[in-house]
Amino acid sequence: MQLYCPFCKPINGSLIPVIYGQTTCSVCSEQLGWVQKTGWIDPLFNYNWNNLYSNYDARCKRFNPNDPCLQVFSNKRPGSDRACYNALVALVSNEMTKDRCITLPTYLAITYWKHYSGRAKTKRDVCGKIIGNMGNPNFHNDLAELTNYYSIPLAANEQAIIGYLKKMNGYDMPGIKSFDTIPTRATLLHMVFPDVVPLYDEQVLIAIGIRNDKIHHKDPSRKYSYYQTYTTHIWELVQKYSQVIKGNFTETSLRILDMALWVVR
Ligand SMILES: [Zn+2]
Repeated sequence: MQLYCPFCKPINGSLIPVIYGQTTCSVCSEQLGWVQKTGWIDPLFNYNWNNLYSNYDARCKRFNPNDPCLQVFSNKRPGSDRACYNALVALVSNEMTKDRCITLPTYLAITYWKHYSGRAKTKRDVCGKIIGNMGNPNFHNDLAELTNYYSIPLAANEQAIIGYLKKMNGYDMPGIKSFDTIPTRATLLHMVFPDVVPLYDEQVLIAIGIRNDKIHHKDPSRKYSYYQTYTTHIWELVQKYSQVIKGNFTETSLRILDMALWVVR
C-alpha cells in the first residue's frame, strides 16, 4: 500500500510518497513517526495537545446552534460543535439507559452534527428526509428496533464493531440505509459507544497517509476492511498518547484522537 506525507500539500497535483520505516519527509522535513502494527503513519508525533480545542474550534465555524435539526435541545441549545457533541453523547446515554433506544429528534441532531460541515446538499437531503418522516410511526419503530439492539454492551473488538455496523443493513433510514455509508453509521454507533467505536471519514485517512481514492473502491467489503484497520490504528494511538491526554479533556480518549487527526490533516 502506498502511503503519502500527511503534511505536504500536493506538488503539481501529486502527493509526496513516503515508504514504510521512513521517519522524516524528504520534502517538508516533518517527522512522521510510525505505528508498527498497521504500518500507518502517526502524524501526531509532534502535536501540541494544549492547542487541541482552539485548533478544533477554528475549523467548526459553520456550526449553527439555531438550525431546526437541533430542536431536541429545545431552549438549551449547544453553542458550538464541541458542546453539541458532548450534549449528544449525554442525551444518547440517557435515552439508552431509560428507553433502551434512540429517539428520532436525537437521531436528527446526530445527523446534523455529522453533516453540517460537509456538502450542503447532503445535509439538506438527509436531514430533510428525517424531518419529513417525523410523523411516521413506522420510522420511529424502525429506529427504536435498530438502536435497541445496541443496548447490548459492545466489546472492544474490531469484528464485533463491524457486526454492529452491518446490523444497520435492512433499515430504511436516511443516512445509514446504504451498506457503504460507514462514516454516518459509525457516527451513530460512536454516540452509543464513545470510548469504543471510532468516528471516521476520508479526512482522517488522509491524516494517516491513506489517499481517499482507495475508499471509493467499488467493493464495499473493502471499505469495511479499511474501517477495521483504522480502528486498530486509532486504538494504538489512544494507548500511545494515553499519558499525555489523560485528565486534560472532557471527551473520551478515542474522540480526542479523532479530533487531533482531523485537525492535523
Ligand atoms: Zn512532507
